[in-house]
Order: sequence, then C-alpha cells, then structure tokens
Amino acid sequence: MGLLQERYKNYREPQKFMEAGVYPYFREITGKQGTEVQMEGHKVLMFGSNAYTGLTGDQRVIDAAKAALDKYGSGCAGSRFLNGTLDLHVQLERELAEFEHKDEALCFSTGFSVNAGVLSVVCGREDYIICDDRDHASIVDGRRLSFATCLKYKHNDMEDLEKQLQKCRPESIKLIVVDGVFSMEGDLANLPEIVRLKKKYNASVMVDEAHGLGVFGRQGRGVCDHFGLIDDIDLIMGTFSKSLASIGGFIAGDRDTINYLRHTCRTYIFSASNTPAATAAAMEALHIIKSEPERIERLWKVTNYALKRFKEEGFEIGDTESPIIPLYVRDVDKTFLVTKLAFDAGVFINPVIPPACAPQDTLVRFALMATHTKEQVERGVQALKKIFVEQGIIK
Ligand code: PMP
Repeated sequence: MGLLQERYKNYREPQKFMEAGVYPYFREITGKQGTEVQMEGHKVLMFGSNAYTGLTGDQRVIDAAKAALDKYGSGCAGSRFLNGTLDLHVQLERELAEFEHKDEALCFSTGFSVNAGVLSVVCGREDYIICDDRDHASIVDGRRLSFATCLKYKHNDMEDLEKQLQKCRPESIKLIVVDGVFSMEGDLANLPEIVRLKKKYNASVMVDEAHGLGVFGRQGRGVCDHFGLIDDIDLIMGTFSKSLASIGGFIAGDRDTINYLRHTCRTYIFSASNTPAATAAAMEALHIIKSEPERIERLWKVTNYALKRFKEEGFEIGDTESPIIPLYVRDVDKTFLVTKLAFDAGVFINPVIPPACAPQDTLVRFALMATHTKEQVERGVQALKKIFVEQGIIK
C-alpha cells in the first residue's frame, strides 16, 4: 500500500452516514428534470433544483440544443482562444453583455471556472480582493489563486466591510466580490450600501448573479438591476446552470477589463469551450426569460406562497428574500435524518452542512421553480412539517 492509500484508508466520514442509512448524496435521477423526477425507483417532488425558471425540460430549450448538436457536432475540442470559438458563443456573449448593460461579456464552460479564473488574474500583488465570508466556494478558490491580498468581512456587515476598506492602500485596486443572492440562505447582498462604500473608497465591485439571474430585476437581469445599480457594478458574473437551464457561465464588464481577461484568464484559455448544445440551450432559455415575464411572476407567486406557509407553520427560515428557503435544523445528524425522511416521503431537498455553512447553522434548503404549483408546495410543506415536528425541531 502506498502513502496515498495509507492516508485515505482512514477517511470514513461518508461511511458513518451510509452505515446510519442517511447518506443523502449522489442519488441517481433516471428521467427528465422537472418539478417531479424519477429517482432511485420512485417519484419525488423536486425542491432541490436551482432551475428557478423551470426551463430544463422546456421543449424549446431542448430543440435548440438538438439543432446545435446537429449543426456543430458534439464538442468543440479546443479552447475559445484557438479552435473552439463558435459564432454561437460570440452571439451569446453579445446578448449577455447587452442584457447586463455592459460593453462585453465572455462565456466560460462552467460558472465555477468564471469565478476561479477571473479572480485569479484580475487583481495583482499590490491589490486587494474583499469578500463576504459567505461567498460561494468558487469565489473563495479564485481569491486563493490570486496574488492579491485577500480580506474578508462578516456576512453582510457593512461596518466590517468599511473597516477592511480602510486597511487598503488608496492607490490599489480594491475589488469587493459578493454573491448577489447567497446560495444557501437566500438573503441578498446589501448592494446599495456596498456601492456607497465603493464610491467613498474608490473601490470596484463584482457581483455573482448565479442565483439572481432569471429571478430578480427587469426581465430577470438579476439583483444588481433589482436595486437599480447595474451601472455601478463593475463586473457581473452569471451561470447557465440555474435559470438558464444549461451549463456554463459568463463575466460581463467594460471593454478594457474584458479584453484583458480574454487574453489572460487561464480557465478561459486553457480549458475547452462550452459545447454547442449547452450554449444554444442557454441562449434559448435567455430568449424565453426575456420574452415571458409571466414566468418570473409565477416564480414569485409560488415563492411568496411557500414563504408564507413555512412562516405560518413555525419554521425558522432566516432572512431569505428569494426562492431559496433555508429551513434551519441546527444539527448535522438531524439535517441528514430530515433529508432522508423527506426523501422517503417523496420530497427532495438539499442538506446544507459545513463547510457550506457554520456548524450551528445547518439547514435543509427548499428551492422553488416557476413550474411548481401551489398544490405541490403545500405537499412539501405538509411533509416537512410532520418530520420537523416529529424530530422536535419545530412545535
Ligand atoms: N456561484 C454561485 C453563487 C453558485 O451557487 C454556483 C453553483 N452552485 C456557482 C457560482 C458555480 O456555478 P456552476 O454550477 O455553473 O459551476
């Protein structure tokens, strides 16, 4: 046995939960994505998906992906830099830039690689990257790869952000990076105050719209637009893996910064470009979101209904203002147990445990899609209420 095997022979964290019969991960879906999915032999109500607009099973999106597959083939076999740029990528970049009111945009193969790649090169040794301590893992990894000094402030604590800004040299780039909607708790970044501080300290701001796109703002532009601050945000990042029902991501900003990123960002240059099918699917989803405002209205109707019902039933749901509803459990073992009992009752939710949250803040994450019906939400609420009461989490 080599040193590698020796080291990991004792890694048995997941096995503990498997032996207890509550291991919740890697469940296999065997059919089309939607509000109900076939999973490990039975049908479950899906409240774990990030496809807020509910477009993953939409025939128009599927047809667009099929047409691109027929026209361009299955993959690009190269990076955007060299042989992997399709007219489709360039068209989507133009549309996204226009959508986000920025000069230009770049499309990447995943949202994770946007944050990891952009943050690793956008600030130099003399500069600062300043993050909220609940920012997504891809932002954390991006700042780790950067030569810049990294500073963190307490979640949405604007006094702490100001303290961090005061530590910085005035002549350096000070890039504040936040999730627009925090992915586990569903609360929003305090962008009005962040923009005020940006102006006061001559800083810059990058917002991750992974969970804001298709949900907030005019035609689903995101949280920056929701606050009327789209022109004050320097860089807007988004992903295709949620409301755009596909896979991939983008960064949008001013012409010069994007030109720099286009020629230096390693996850853009040294990674193959997004597949034709995924690119076309994201573009079609974007067209649908822009042309069907009633879809976002439906998402908010069902979200508001779920928020009201969980509150009425006495669940602790934190400060969420979005279709992401955290149901606090505050105990790791119970969080897994609740997830398993819900699955057995036909309701799929996601457990959130460290490092995705603090140990005392474990929760199950209940997320809405525009295609959910009130009746489905009610079934979810009732099933979870029974489990939470039986487990002594709520009365
Ligand atoms: N940012 C945030 C806030 C996210 O929640 C995620 C995915 N969960 C990403 C970035 C990464 O996006 P992708 O899944 O497209 O890689």
